[in-house]
Amino acid sequence: MKSKNENNFDSLAKNIGKFHLHNKTVLIPAMNRIASHLLAAAFRSFDIKARVLQTYKGLDLGKTHTSGKECFPCQITLGDILLFLKTEQKKRGAAFDPENYLYFLPESDGPCRFGMYNKYQRMVLDSFPGFDRVKIVSLTTTDGYSLEGVIEQDRVLDFRKANYMAVVVADIMERLLWRIRPYEKAAGITDDFIERAMHAVEASFEMHAAAGAYDKILHRLEAVVREGQALIDPAIPAKPLIGIVGEIFLRMHVDSNQDLIRVLEEHGAEVVNSSLAEWVNYITYGQLRQNKINFRLNLKQLNFGRLKKNLRQMLRFGSDLLYQELKQKQFYNRVSKLIDIEHDHKVRHLEQRLQKEDLFTFDVTTETCLSIAAILQFAEEGYNGIVNVYPFTCMPGMTTSAIVKPVMNKRRIPYLDTPYDGSLQPGRDTAIRTFMHQVTQHFQRHGRRGIIQQRAA
Ligand code: SF4
Repeated sequence: MKSKNENNFDSLAKNIGKFHLHNKTVLIPAMNRIASHLLAAAFRSFDIKARVLQTYKGLDLGKTHTSGKECFPCQITLGDILLFLKTEQKKRGAAFDPENYLYFLPESDGPCRFGMYNKYQRMVLDSFPGFDRVKIVSLTTTDGYSLEGVIEQDRVLDFRKANYMAVVVADIMERLLWRIRPYEKAAGITDDFIERAMHAVEASFEMHAAAGAYDKILHRLEAVVREGQALIDPAIPAKPLIGIVGEIFLRMHVDSNQDLIRVLEEHGAEVVNSSLAEWVNYITYGQLRQNKINFRLNLKQLNFGRLKKNLRQMLRFGSDLLYQELKQKQFYNRVSKLIDIEHDHKVRHLEQRLQKEDLFTFDVTTETCLSIAAILQFAEEGYNGIVNVYPFTCMPGMTTSAIVKPVMNKRRIPYLDTPYDGSLQPGRDTAIRTFMHQVTQHFQRHGRRGIIQQRAA
């Protein structure tokens, strides 16, 4: 049955955008389990009802309502929201009111399809009676994921800070997981511990985020780290280290990447995935960078009206970036006093590396520039292997592969592409085994550098 809104393009303008989050249930996709839960807790701290959508169980629905040309993350998230709404509708019957829900789905500009997910999903939701009244809250990279309009103006800044902290803490907890699990004293204890720890930190966010009491959250995190540290068996020698880059959804979403990190660990590796905060910092950095470029252009043209606007934006994004990087460093430093987890890359350093190697440019947006730069950085830091994770047919993922593969071959650093589309790839296991053989050889020849080598020694 078709709704009156089908093919009504007005809906794309009216039902996607920034909507006030209060008195609604905000549905957060579970791209990254820990980050989604901490973000939902930060939302709840600001009296916003937020819950994390169950994920991957609705994949059949997602595939049924896409043509096959869409990116895999679009199919997954579409399936998640459809399954949730259908289940709620059935469970609540006449009491089901679609207007009570807001579906949280950020977007990105640039040449790839991420900017189209929410439009496409809007059209699909509009084709179901009732679901056309579920609005999509879309934050966009074009204004640096500004939160203006979703919460009272005087709370926007605090809300933004709380969300960023949730992202950083989630990154740290994941790094803790990857640092402990390959060296755990007994099989399975790290997974149990991280699940409990996530809920403890989630409760701390819910209680303290709105008040900006981050020190209390940090204390909770430090207690978690201490507990986790005790799970490491010091008799297990250091293992080869692998860095993961790639498309953000796939590399973070364990169901769709078929739990790649665990698979690599089972083959004898320790793994570090690129972080979520790196992407958030990159968006802020990108806005600052673009405004600097525009400023120079407008200065040449003596366009004083625009110059003023550029200056305002430079100040805004410059101070945002400074705050983000300072807080991130502060959190990592506190945790690093207790355990040697890998720190995050600074986006400015990644751009400098790219410029130095002259392989690609930040002028071309999307994740390609981040992935290529992070690969070069991992190689420089002495990682023993690098994996590029992306959805099948993902343009930035394939561009990264085309540029980097010959470079890694030349430098004799093991490199593996792992595209995913939900199917079981014949030969994937063999590819991973071969890659791990090369990684082990690299480790035996070169060891691990920096902080990691100290641990190995
Ligand atoms: S990054 Fe890749 S998967 Fe994501 S929207 Fe772009 S093309 Fe699709």
